[in-house]
Amino acid sequence: MVEFLCTICSKTYPIDTDVWHCECGGIFEVTDLPAFDPKAIITDEYTLWRYRRLFSFEDEAHIVSMGEGFTPIVETNIYGLPIQAKLEYMSPTGSYKDRGASVLVSYLNRFDKLRPVVEDSSGNAGASLAAYTARIGIKARVFVPADASGPKLSQIAIYGAELNPVEGPRSAAEQAAHEAAEKEYYASHVYNPLFMIGLRTFAYEVVEQLGWRAPDNIVFPVGHGTFLLSTYRGFQHMLDAGVIDRMPRFFAVQARACDPIFQAYRRGFEDVQPVVAGATVAEGIRIAGPPRGRQVLEAIRTSGGAVLTVTDREIIRARRAMARLGLFIEPTSAAAVAGLRKLDKMLDSENVTVVPLTGSGLKAPVTP
Ligand SMILES: [Zn+2]
Repeated sequence: MVEFLCTICSKTYPIDTDVWHCECGGIFEVTDLPAFDPKAIITDEYTLWRYRRLFSFEDEAHIVSMGEGFTPIVETNIYGLPIQAKLEYMSPTGSYKDRGASVLVSYLNRFDKLRPVVEDSSGNAGASLAAYTARIGIKARVFVPADASGPKLSQIAIYGAELNPVEGPRSAAEQAAHEAAEKEYYASHVYNPLFMIGLRTFAYEVVEQLGWRAPDNIVFPVGHGTFLLSTYRGFQHMLDAGVIDRMPRFFAVQARACDPIFQAYRRGFEDVQPVVAGATVAEGIRIAGPPRGRQVLEAIRTSGGAVLTVTDREIIRARRAMARLGLFIEPTSAAAVAGLRKLDKMLDSENVTVVPLTGSGLKAPVTP
């Protein structure tokens, strides 16, 4: 049976619990899912829900789906390096967050929890949650930094979610959500393991689309690091079952203006200490104190990967370079591409390197 597991004291909770952290203060992951069995895949279902038996979601009637997942992989060549770009921006709301939101909201539907939910986000997660909750008439309240602006906020609002601007840094919006979560369900893209189950499906797809083999490398833009961590868990799931024979190396790229995971990596620390977040065009990864930083760092080190940083100038150039290849992405996604340029000593042109293109270029204005 799938349960929530406290990452500090190992106490377990049922997955329909209303609390979002353990009584000891620890945050949750899920316990082991059923063993990965390729025969459990529903091969005529061309969304991430083809993998639903792998996370014990059997009742089809409760699925809240808009065709998310099963995004294309497009081979391209950038900075002299062949990469397999996975077009996560082709998701229903324009970002990979739809994987998490679809699975989380489907569980809420299955648990018959149709009362209001809260979330804090300045962008893609809020938009995704707003869209999926709208599908089944759940009210979503999204706490956003008061200085956030642009297309993502309009996107959250037009789906019908309530925008709650909070003065101060991004962490103030998170704090406000934590307070609201005392009474309302916290549909967090960071703390809620049901969201992370959805993100895991990215790993399954990559392996399936590459002909049942693991790539050599995966390069992520990293703020909270939950996409990287969930993908790592997905590969571990397949490795444990003998479906793949090795783990890819995981590389994390952070914005230089906000690089807490890089700072811990560089110093050899196991824990990630918060930094003061500077301004960056990569707003989706501007996270000063990632709650799952320790696990993210452990995954990267265990896989033989690395953490690096890129400047805004490098991000903007990488965004343009990708657009010239027909791939229009938001600056946060371009951070990973910019990182490739600095990884050339660690990556071999014979390697298979996967780069998720996490968010659509339409979500961020183009700077001339
Ligand atoms: Zn605990």
